[in-house]
Amino acid sequence: MSTRIAVIGGGFAGLWSAVSAARARALFNIPEDELEIVLITPNPFHTIRVRCYETDLAPVRVPLDDVLTPINVRRIEGQATRIDLTSRTLAVAGTSREIPDIGYDRLILAAGSSLARPPIPQAKETFDVDTYEGGQRLAAHLAALARAPGSDGSGTAVVIGGGLVGVEIACELPGRLRAALGADATVRVVLVDHDGIGAGMGEGRSVVCNALQALGVEARPFTTVTAVDAAGVILSTGKHIPAATVVFATGMRASSLTRDLGVACDRLGRVPVNRFLEVTGADAIYAAGDCAAARADDIGHMTVMSCQHARPMGRVAGHNAVCDIAGRPGERIPFTAPDYVTILDLGPFGALYTAGWERGTVVATGAKAKATKQIINGARIYPPRNASREAIFAAGAPVIQARPAVE
Ligand SMILES: Cc1cc2nc3c(=O)[nH]c(=O)nc-3n(C[C@H](O)[C@H](O)[C@H](O)COP(=O)(O)OP(=O)(O)OC[C@H]3O[C@@H](n4cnc5c(N)ncnc54)[C@H](O)[C@@H]3O)c2cc1C
Repeated sequence: MSTRIAVIGGGFAGLWSAVSAARARALFNIPEDELEIVLITPNPFHTIRVRCYETDLAPVRVPLDDVLTPINVRRIEGQATRIDLTSRTLAVAGTSREIPDIGYDRLILAAGSSLARPPIPQAKETFDVDTYEGGQRLAAHLAALARAPGSDGSGTAVVIGGGLVGVEIACELPGRLRAALGADATVRVVLVDHDGIGAGMGEGRSVVCNALQALGVEARPFTTVTAVDAAGVILSTGKHIPAATVVFATGMRASSLTRDLGVACDRLGRVPVNRFLEVTGADAIYAAGDCAAARADDIGHMTVMSCQHARPMGRVAGHNAVCDIAGRPGERIPFTAPDYVTILDLGPFGALYTAGWERGTVVATGAKAKATKQIINGARIYPPRNASREAIFAAGAPVIQARPAVE
């Protein structure tokens, strides 16, 4: 009887887990009918989630089968709803058909994260850029604004959450509103955060403030949105801002499937994993990407919910799951990611590129940083397309970052 590695999630961690597992299967000459690799995800696409704030969403979805078919990974279209640790099975709600429980010998949990919505009362539709569907709904809403009868706040957007995602969409919105309403329209974008805005960008904080100012985005730090009513938002100051568009960018929480593993999760809902990305305290389960909290280096930095970490974590988890199942524990690879960089898109103002866990060094700004951001988001993080099995395997090889951590 064949053994099975099941991967939950077709995002950065899940896709690269599956590719890496298939690569290791080939590397160790394990016949494909003896080790099945199955990827379970609700739709047939690998979403380049980091681009969901952009205007043109066409390049954001990559057909998973372009990558999975040549390397013989089976894709199941559905949503895993429960992990049963005792029977080692997954319950899956099929997208278009009923799916019987799926057994696994090793599981890689890579179900990612989703927007953490604070309990703000809401009397109308609000938006987000957390998913492709979210980005699409926002795009459709902006396009419809031009056709809607003009109201007090028709040219106003309020973004709730001044973290990285909030800053990225806030910088895009003045241009997107003008594109929808006409170049002469009065547009207003307000970025609200109960904490500081751009504060997390370390030495780059002033670059963020300058960008917001140059683009005409009003920053409202240390302010809370207490309610979204039919006409706009109410702030903790008591002020009402009429706004047709309200976008939530209030952080991310790991998939609720992490709770099925019966281990203590961190404040982001992530499960603890060891250096081989096995879930600490659960048998036969690996976790990667936003679902997992892993040590990134030897001085205590933990992984950040990011594509930057999800992709290499996936490559390591997939490889190690195969080593484990094939009885080759000595060939497992520890996960390391000692270097950390951030590149924040600032819309027409360019971008901000920082290095270090505290974002202590500004490497580049403006057009130069934007060019790097576009290379990363537009090419580097994409899987190979129309590629040979060998090229796909080459892209899925785990990367060992051996350099010591330097701040
Ligand atoms: C607008 C935006 C901009 C960002 N910018 C950056 C950036 O510049 N740099 C950076 O490093 N990070 C950025 N991030 C964060 C980054 O997108 C995430 O950290 C990354 O996507 C995590 O990868 P993942 O594979 O763990 O999860 P995801 O990419 O979220 O993938 C999870 C996958 O699992 C599937 N899934 C979920 N639940 C289930 C289930 N129950 N059953 C089956 N499948 C399931 C989902 O459909 C999806 O395919 C950004 C995020 C957003 C929203």
